[in-house]
Amino acid sequence: MKTKFLSLFLLSIIFFNIVLGENVIVIITDGMNFDCLSIVRKISQNPLKNISFDNFSQIFYCETTADNTYITDSAAAGTAIFTGCKTENGFIGIDKNKKNVENIIEFCKKKSFLTGVITNTRVTHATPASTYSHVDERNKEYDIALQLSEKDIDLVMGGGLKYFLKENRYDKKDLLEEFTKKGYKVIKEKKGLKENTDKKVIALFSNSHLSYEFEKDTTEQPTLTEMVDYGLNYLYERSKKMNKEFFLMIESGRIDHASHYTAFKELIFELLETEKMVKRVLDFASKTNTTVLLVSDHATANPVFVGTFTDSLLHTMDSYFIKNVDTSSKENLLKTLDSFKIKFTDISEFSGTKEESSYKGDHTGSDVLGFFYSKKFRIEKIFYKNYELFEIMKKSLMDNL
Ligand SMILES: [Zn+2]
Repeated sequence: MKTKFLSLFLLSIIFFNIVLGENVIVIITDGMNFDCLSIVRKISQNPLKNISFDNFSQIFYCETTADNTYITDSAAAGTAIFTGCKTENGFIGIDKNKKNVENIIEFCKKKSFLTGVITNTRVTHATPASTYSHVDERNKEYDIALQLSEKDIDLVMGGGLKYFLKENRYDKKDLLEEFTKKGYKVIKEKKGLKENTDKKVIALFSNSHLSYEFEKDTTEQPTLTEMVDYGLNYLYERSKKMNKEFFLMIESGRIDHASHYTAFKELIFELLETEKMVKRVLDFASKTNTTVLLVSDHATANPVFVGTFTDSLLHTMDSYFIKNVDTSSKENLLKTLDSFKIKFTDISEFSGTKEESSYKGDHTGSDVLGFFYSKKFRIEKIFYKNYELFEIMKKSLMDNL
């Protein structure tokens, strides 16, 4: 009887082309240290409340060094994660000898997976660029934009429009025209997300990074969660139609920026938005064949919840403020955030004077937490080197982790 079912099953795979593989979503929380999660939990209405991150099935920690320094930048970290090769700060998609190494998008193209990249930074910024490009200097964003136009990624969403415009480019190429010629739908306004399309999509909502959620005009720019909602639906429909699995990279990239500027309120809004986005991704994964890996590429300025034992009015769990944090509207949240004390690690205390530094916070050498969700696979270790994550995503896509 068992054999009969098995042969029926195998026959149905052959005739109906049933999808057996696994989609893979990798979320990079750029610059987020562990205390950020602790802050999110405390800023929720009840400090003991579960947050979306608690619904991952496994947790690990991950070192973050670059090839030549303990303190990585996002280019070296992204290259390690998305190519499996540790390299030097500033390098993207190349090893320390400047030789190109295969990245995740190239791997996916070779294996015919659908691909997507979503970020709230410029799509040419270091982390998203690490998934598809090869440059010896992360600031070569005009070159990165050109490479992106040659990659045939199914879905690209984020900021960085200026790098694609003829009038700004050294080679006077109109990259948006190139995308259109290749059959892409080019979106420049949020309202463009309302219509479904069969075409590949590039959506660029801002000349540079998208605004912080704290100050974003959401009638003009989508939130990170809105982009992810669109992206998940788009890739799900496309993968059904084309009978292929997909790889999607999502970057919550502005946690890092807010931390560099030790901007607590901007940071909180980025973190709350990330928590919401993670909920959407895990809901999607629980209903589909999807593996999710979330990791920070490094920590930035290590924000931490501080206080003293005697500071009871502010920081005990009985405190009026903590029990009554209202995250339902920006106004209410801002009112209560004034009562919180968050301290960042101020790098300027250690390297030069404060006057010399516009950036008060910088990357740290801390290990970071990683999260894993899959109905099918388990990861084996509790500690990973950042470059080892590449194998996890490749093997999950190939269904043999
Ligand atoms: Zn940074």
